[in-house]
Amino acid sequence: MSKVLVIGAGGVGSVAVHKMAMNPGIFSEIHLASRTKAKCDAIAESVKTRTGQSVATYQIDADDVPALTALIRQIGPKLVVNLALPYQDLHIMDACLAAGVDYLDTANYEPRDQAHFEYSWQWAYQDKFKAAGLMALLGSGFDPGVTSVFATWLKKHKLDTIRTLDILDCNGGDHGQHFATNFNPEINIREVTAPARHYENGKWIERPALSTKQQFAFEGVGPKSMYLMYHEELESLAKHLPEIERIRFWMTFGEAYITHLTVLQNVGMTRIDPVIYEGKEIIPLQFLKAVLPEPSSLGSTTKGKTNIGDIATGFKDGEERTFYIYQICDHEAAFAETGNQAVSYTTGVPAMVGAAMILTGAWKGQNGEGGVFNMEQFDPDPFLDMLGKQGLPWQVKELGGPLGF
Ligand code: NDP
Repeated sequence: MSKVLVIGAGGVGSVAVHKMAMNPGIFSEIHLASRTKAKCDAIAESVKTRTGQSVATYQIDADDVPALTALIRQIGPKLVVNLALPYQDLHIMDACLAAGVDYLDTANYEPRDQAHFEYSWQWAYQDKFKAAGLMALLGSGFDPGVTSVFATWLKKHKLDTIRTLDILDCNGGDHGQHFATNFNPEINIREVTAPARHYENGKWIERPALSTKQQFAFEGVGPKSMYLMYHEELESLAKHLPEIERIRFWMTFGEAYITHLTVLQNVGMTRIDPVIYEGKEIIPLQFLKAVLPEPSSLGSTTKGKTNIGDIATGFKDGEERTFYIYQICDHEAAFAETGNQAVSYTTGVPAMVGAAMILTGAWKGQNGEGGVFNMEQFDPDPFLDMLGKQGLPWQVKELGGPLGF
């Protein structure tokens, strides 16, 4: 029985809060704060209608650390779940340290002025969290999040060592719009337009964004083109599973998405440096976000499935084996349950499960010590057991051999 404060009332926050309300034995009191209180109130109303549970709501600018610290002290939660944007991560971690509360997020810190993704900023908080006896769990979404836990599950149950790991993220959903992103457009476009990077034999290999493409037949979706990309869990997996020789991340995009994105990039609309427009500074990508559909508005029209998983090749008792562990989520079923499409659902459910791991004590540092942790540092079993029961059942199968590319 624990009190939790969720920050961020977007699609992911909405799913996480609905799922927390469906588990009142763990989340006895739910508080939701965001920049726009009306969005918190709309979620609270939907939660009340769907589950009968109450959610207390607040307005907060999470970049204002003293105000956020005061709010955390006023509420007195056991855990703060950060489902705002990556820009807020360090500020929310600072407020958690000041107020003496555990922390969880789903995306690593990014400075606003550089599309640069790395854990160094958050890993630098290790000593502070350890000294305070507090826990910070980083990246408890699907990817990062479940994909890292999938890797440790394969290592625990199917392989003695993992030599190569490929993470495959397929969204086979169709929202009926010419161009839209399934989570925050600014964060999504920064990620997709960044150079592709993968890890091989101790080195990072960089290629131009969206320049390496493969076809893959996804169960529940069909054949899709997927593109090599950088994704933050590659960095933490390379650190925590150092025996891995190669780790890559692939994401599917349709022709129309790539064509629109190419045009937007070519005309400068994805720039994140300021330009002067009618005497005012604007950031083209932020302006673009303002004219694109809100991801949370896509739920009612999105049809199809997502399929996200890991393919790992390694040795078991001296023999080379390849396993594929994956989860298929249906957009319409996700929308029926919480009013949000599958990309928000597949992120919000693991955020809730990660929060449950902390609140129930299933995941904690060695000897109860605090610190900053990534998902692959813990026992995968209780997390994946709960994930399957909470709407994201997963499956594993053996493949005939390693990927042919
Ligand atoms: P949205 O843009 O829909 O929601 C973000 C919410 O955060 C909004 O309600 C916004 O408020 C609020 N917010 C933004 N800035 C502040 C601030 N300074 N103070 C308080 N609240 C703030 O994003 P999503 O729900 O799609 O994504 C949420 C997070 O999940 C992101 O960090 C994203 O990167 C991550 N994510 C992780 C995935 C994974 O698998 N690991 C996959 C998908 C997303 P307002 O609307 O009022 O401005």
